[in-house]
Order: sequence, then C-alpha cells, then structure tokens
Amino acid sequence: MSRFFHQRYADLIPYVPGEQPQERKFVKLNTNESPYPPSKRAVAAAKAEAERLELYSDPTAKKLCEAFAQTVGVSPDEVMATNGSDEILNFAFMAYCGKDHPAVFPDITYGFYPVFANLNGIPYTEIPLRDDFTVDVDGLCGTPGTVFLANPNAPTGIALPVSEIEKVLQAHPNDIVVIDEAYVDFGGESCVRLIPKYENLLVTQTFSKSRSMAGARLGFGIGQAALIADLQTLRNSTNPYNVNRMTMAAGIGALADEEYTEGNCKTVIRTRERTAEELKRIGFRVLPSKTNFLFAKHPAIGGYELYRALYDRGVLVRHFNTPKLKDYNRITVGSPEQMEELLRNLKEILEENK
Ligand SMILES: *Cc1c(COP(=O)(O)O)cnc(C)c1O
Repeated sequence: MSRFFHQRYADLIPYVPGEQPQERKFVKLNTNESPYPPSKRAVAAAKAEAERLELYSDPTAKKLCEAFAQTVGVSPDEVMATNGSDEILNFAFMAYCGKDHPAVFPDITYGFYPVFANLNGIPYTEIPLRDDFTVDVDGLCGTPGTVFLANPNAPTGIALPVSEIEKVLQAHPNDIVVIDEAYVDFGGESCVRLIPKYENLLVTQTFSKSRSMAGARLGFGIGQAALIADLQTLRNSTNPYNVNRMTMAAGIGALADEEYTEGNCKTVIRTRERTAEELKRIGFRVLPSKTNFLFAKHPAIGGYELYRALYDRGVLVRHFNTPKLKDYNRITVGSPEQMEELLRNLKEILEENK
C-alpha cells in the first residue's frame, strides 16, 4: 500500500476470485463457468462488432435491453445492463444502503456481498444458515436492512421457493430486497414474475453461467422502473459505456438463440444429477443443488486435503477455508467427460486414503 491510499480503504479485504491458471491445463471445475462455448450467434455478432470498436457503445444499451426485457417478460424500462452482475450488485449496495441503512444477508453466501458493503462503508448483519445449510428466512425477515439473497444460494446450491422470498419482501416494506439469480436457469424458480407486485424487489441475473459468457461480463438488474432509474443515475455517474460493443452484440446474439441456452442447461442439470448420485455412492455428503455446481464433503478426507489431492492430479475445484465450509468443496458441473475424470480421480484418492 502506498502512503497516498486513502485510509478509508486501508482495511478493505478484496474479493478473491477462483484461480484462472494460465499455464497448466486443468480440468477446471472451480469458478462455475459453462463447459460449453457461447452460442454461435453470440460469437459471430461479437466478431462482426470488433470492426466498429473505434466507436463508443450505446450508453442506453437499447437493443440489448429490449431483447432481454422481452425474454424475461418485463418492459424495457424495467431492466438495466451492467458489466457482469457484480456491477449491478455494487450499484444496489450504493443505492439502497448507507451508514444509517445496513445490509443483511446470510453468513454463507456470495463472498462479494461483505466486500461491497465494506467498500461502501455500509454496516451489515449476517444471518447464520440453519444446520442443514438452508437460509433462515425468519431470521432475514426479522432483521432490519436491505436484504441481499442469492437464490439459489452459493456455495451451497440450495434454492428457496418464490413463496419464501415473498415472506421476505412483505417483512421488509421499507427496504429493497435484492434477489441474486446468477444460477436460476439450472432449476431454480425466478422472482421476476413478482416485480409488478413488489416495488421493493430488485432481481439480478448474469450471462456468465447459463449463457456461457463469463468472459464477456454481462449482467442485468430487473425491477420496477423507479428502481431502474435510481440505478441508471449511478451507472451514468460512473461509466455510461459500462457494456462494451462486442459484449452488447454477443448478448443480443445469445438472446436470439435461447434454445441453445435451454439445451445446455438441461444437459448440465442431467450431468449434475448423475454426478451427485455417483458422489453419494462413493460416500460423499452432497447438498441438494439447483445450480451448475455441487457442494460436497467426504468423511474420510478433509476438504483442503481433497482439494490439494485433486489439484496435484490436474483437477481444479473450489475450497473455502472458513470454519463452516472447510470440510466441503464446491465442484462445478462440467461436461460428462470432465465429470468422469473427476470421479475417476476421486475414487483413486479415496482408495489411497483408506
Ligand atoms: C457468478 C456470480 C455472480 C456474478 O457474476 P458476474 O460474472 O459478475 O455476472 C453473482 N452472484 C453469484 C452468487 C455468483 O455466483
């Protein structure tokens, strides 16, 4: 740290993304990317758009927002496009929290929430998950503040039904409730249909997972027009060109090819269910997942030891070194071939650890 860095950031602990190894070739199951390439239409559109990079992107992202709004069934003034959904989440912390208006989220959830809170000087309350790793909805309902809830949750993979989310919305009439639907396309239930009914609901979605576009950085906020207007003010006060031309074109291309996305999601769900069964058969405890990852532990080997053993064999998964999570690993659902590799290595490791 230089002596010029303002002291309000001196204690900031940044979010630690999963490793993105550049040298060694891994079976990469650590950051919940799709094992499948983006839609051909997305790729072709991005390539063509590269010829026009001398021009700024459309600061209103009009065509992209129209296409996305139509896909999710809202009107265009009820959506805003961002540079990944991380950006819309940061805007939500900025817009709807402050020193006098805390944030509230589960103690085990997306690791970026406490980082955004700290970045913006926002106090927060963490509500412990129940012993079975489900979200304590009553706890969220009874705690004042702007609610941030990943549904399905990460890294547990467990989803809440929309009826439970409604309880939270009704318990917080004077707070925004942000529902982070990064994984909703893998079997969860979206809250977007509640938007006409709740002025305090903001839903976030991303193209990073189900649409195979993590590297493009595209996310959305979805909510009533008044909320979107708030968020536009923040976007236009930071970076009006937050979505670049190639990503915008790729996003429109992907939305014109929704059958491709749906097909990939179905495949991932099928692969997930098969892999979960096989993991259980060899002794793992696997949480019930509605996402593109599995959260699992084995009684015969510690979480970190298993992570290391897989790493040495060229299989990369995500380990979280915190007291409640350290026994587990989060394993992205890859292609069936990648899952075979994973299972073959796991069986060998378990054999060695007998
Ligand atoms: C991946 C993820 C995001 C955001 O990812 P972006 O790539 O920034 O869109 C948000 N929330 C959760 C829970 C995630 O897992």
